[in-house]
Amino acid sequence: MMSALRNAIAPWWQALLDVVYPRTCRACDVPLPERNAAKPLSEWFCQTCEDSLTKLESPYCKVCAEPYEGMIEGEFRCSNCADRTFSFEFAVAGYQAEGAVRELVHQFKYGKDVSLRGALGDLLARALQDPRLQAEDLTTWRLVPVPLHKARQREREFNQSLELAQRLARLTGIPVVDAMNRQRPTNKQSRLTRAQRLENLKGAFAMKRAFRDDRSSLRGMNVLLVDDVFTTGATTDACAKVLRRQGGIQKVVVIAVARG
Ligand SMILES: [Zn+2]
Ligand SMILES: [Zn+2]
Repeated sequence: MMSALRNAIAPWWQALLDVVYPRTCRACDVPLPERNAAKPLSEWFCQTCEDSLTKLESPYCKVCAEPYEGMIEGEFRCSNCADRTFSFEFAVAGYQAEGAVRELVHQFKYGKDVSLRGALGDLLARALQDPRLQAEDLTTWRLVPVPLHKARQREREFNQSLELAQRLARLTGIPVVDAMNRQRPTNKQSRLTRAQRLENLKGAFAMKRAFRDDRSSLRGMNVLLVDDVFTTGATTDACAKVLRRQGGIQKVVVIAVARG
């Protein structure tokens, strides 16, 4: 609750709040020292926890961002996705889904702790450091969150991907367009085989009506598709397919807080 309030108010109020309710590390709860404007993550994490977060760093697969242990020169495509074609150009994440990052995403989604959107949105921002995205003028792109089915959203009270996209929009100025619907609830993907996953996702997503026709403001644009964790890519691929076929989107790049 306090963090949600802190997110919404002016800096001088935050300073006052810090005196009354000292800020604590979102991962280990130790009180935090004063903010360091040069280090955005000091808003959320103590130095020890910040240092413990595993960044997604090169070398990683140029398509699915699977990190590669060891030395490798230049771009490569991992064996997991070598024989697959995706509707997105590539996926990239800020961190690996382990330790505190994994915990926080879990707490955010299943613990319904919406106040974590600030911390996780700032972790997501790291995905934009990928050189291929650095080379783009992203202000002409749009952020589109992976949609949640209405029933799931009622239960969770918010769409985690939309919350992350909105935080990223505030940091970067790239506009968010909540352009998609999840038409039916899908079973949990993690226990399914690849074939079952594809079957499970068939027809699960659609563009919202306003983004289906030729006058759609998104037609011909490029999209950063926002998800919390990128694992097999089945869900984001299904979304990317709909964005391109139904929404007339040119390029889709998936960005996630963590690579699972
Ligand atoms: Zn800590
Ligand atoms: Zn790969």
